[in-house]
Amino acid sequence: MHAIGIDIGGTKIAGAVVDEFGAIVAEERQPTPAGEPHQIENVVVEMIERLREGHPDIAAAGVAAAGFIDASQSIVYYAPNINWRQEPFREKLEARLDVPVIIENDANAAGWAEFQYGAGRLVSDMVTLTIGTGVGGAIVSEDRLFRGGFGAGAELGHMRVVPGGLPCGCGAHGCIEQYGSGRALQRMANVLADAGGIGQALADVRSRKGSLGGKDISKLIMAGDPGALAALRELGGWLGQACASLGAILDPQLFVFGGGVAQAGDLLLEPIRQAYLENLPARGYHPEPDFRIAELVNDAGVVGAADLARLHASHR
Ligand SMILES: [Zn+2]
Repeated sequence: MHAIGIDIGGTKIAGAVVDEFGAIVAEERQPTPAGEPHQIENVVVEMIERLREGHPDIAAAGVAAAGFIDASQSIVYYAPNINWRQEPFREKLEARLDVPVIIENDANAAGWAEFQYGAGRLVSDMVTLTIGTGVGGAIVSEDRLFRGGFGAGAELGHMRVVPGGLPCGCGAHGCIEQYGSGRALQRMANVLADAGGIGQALADVRSRKGSLGGKDISKLIMAGDPGALAALRELGGWLGQACASLGAILDPQLFVFGGGVAQAGDLLLEPIRQAYLENLPARGYHPEPDFRIAELVNDAGVVGAADLARLHASHR
């Protein structure tokens, strides 16, 4: 049986027909409409209808979006980028489509895809951190996606690492998102460029462009610039500390890192692993988990949403 996965992002909506092995057999993309939420609903409904043409054996459709989704995968309590508050999105979609629908948090969908078909396919317990503009998280524990009692769990980006620290978009202070995200890496690189001493190239680009952007920093990292690498190590240090806390609670066999910053590969994983070991409780007496880069780079959201929808439909 095939299933449809839809991933509503800030700039585009991706949709795909996915088979039971996680392979995409048809896909399409549309720009995310700005404005009223019902326009997004229309795009999603039309996309699912088009994807169903030629695939009559669609078991279910899963829709992933950033936000708090209730435990029954039906209601968007809150979405940061779309004006949804207590939105009964599943009910609205099912009323217009002749197919079962579930709604899922986008980071959860991506983490589930990595668990089923990517870096995590050989473990039972894993934590995924997506290092993009912010920090997204997903937890798989004992082969199940962890959602929490209200459905809004595993918001790992908002784990506090610095009491009274930097203000976060969520309204709290000191969240790991402010120390371990792509945006944090930019802040760290600009501070290092101004301080001088390391990475002349970093300072040169900073003074030429006014500010170092994400692309500048990844180019400098790939060129081996000592300043950019120092910023990446600082970022990895924070993420490793956060992983040590997560490890004490969840005891995963594997941590997986996705998102744009994870393209740095081992250059990111090494400082994470080091900081993890330095901050682990009772170190030396705990088996060491694996630290890996995500494998399903662009498709994780749609593949995970489709797979979770198929699982849900098969348990009805
Ligand atoms: Zn926060």
